[in-house]
Amino acid sequence: MAEAGPAPLGAALGGVIGAVAGELQEENGVDLRCGVRVVSLEGDATGQLCRAHLSDGTALDVNVAVTALGAVRNAEWLAGSGLASGPWGVACDAGCRAFDVNGLVTDDVFVAGDASRAPQPMFGYQFLAVEHWGNAISQAEVAAHNMVSGETERWPHLAVPKFWSVQFGTEIKSVGVPSVADEVAIVQGSVALRRFLAVYGYKGRIVAAVAFNQNKWFEFYEPLIEQAAPFPPTFRHVDEPAEARPVPAGFPAAANPTQDATVVVTGHYPNERRARLTDRRVP
Ligand SMILES: Cc1cc2nc3c(=O)[nH]c(=O)nc-3n(C[C@H](O)[C@H](O)[C@H](O)COP(=O)(O)OP(=O)(O)OC[C@H]3O[C@@H](n4cnc5c(N)ncnc54)[C@H](O)[C@@H]3O)c2cc1C
Repeated sequence: MAEAGPAPLGAALGGVIGAVAGELQEENGVDLRCGVRVVSLEGDATGQLCRAHLSDGTALDVNVAVTALGAVRNAEWLAGSGLASGPWGVACDAGCRAFDVNGLVTDDVFVAGDASRAPQPMFGYQFLAVEHWGNAISQAEVAAHNMVSGETERWPHLAVPKFWSVQFGTEIKSVGVPSVADEVAIVQGSVALRRFLAVYGYKGRIVAAVAFNQNKWFEFYEPLIEQAAPFPPTFRHVDEPAEARPVPAGFPAAANPTQDATVVVTGHYPNERRARLTDRRVP
């Protein structure tokens, strides 16, 4: 049974692409049970593990249990500190300065990595917690710079979120934030062959790309996301499928209407990167 890994991956990729991630597990012998918790483990007369009871009322005969650690932020020690800290992490501004409980920015407490929840200008200023090591590194770089810099010299953290995973020989890479998308298009390769590139769009701009065994084309999309490039992409692709029309992305409707705000990001190095509001609207 795999509770922690594939289910969040499938949920993060949405609709048809998320389903492919789930099928990949099942085809390789993983009995995937999403939305189910282990409520108790039972031992036999000798104290050896023999059964796991699940929250859906079923039980599995097992002799090994693996517990996944690291999925919950250790922010409890900040309780009562006056910071905006809780199960969601520690809220901060795009310059990694922590918010106090009132949502006011502090000037001497900085947050980076998994524990932080910061507004993402590229994605409608939604507060996002990005739990990948690349984000922890680039955010820490910005936090360190801002700690020793005056108000006018500070940097915003504007890195496009990225992650990769290898599952049963399939390389999966994601750039951007697929879950804000309303549409997705397979622009290259074939889902059936598990070798494809999917581009995600929100209201006519590219917000993410996901590659299954198509890594060499992948980095091309990062600058397109930064530039709020038009979706669906207008250029031709190598190995283009006959039907590249966008379909619904398959994520639950967003509760947050601020995805409408659109910025483009310029600059390459952290000291250069800036967000610029754009009134670009695609009818
Ligand atoms: C099982 C697993 C697999 C992962 N796989 C990938 C992957 O393939 N690719 C990827 O990009 N990311 C992966 N991640 C995510 C990645 O590990 C994290 O995003 C990254 O480690 C975050 O770095 P961090 O410095 O913010 O936090 P952490 O690496 O969690 O470091 C926080 C540190 O603070 C310490 N700490 C906590 N509370 C206190 C306290 N009160 N006082 C002092 N110290 C404290 C903790 O012990 C810990 O050492 C994975 C995570 C897990 C759990």
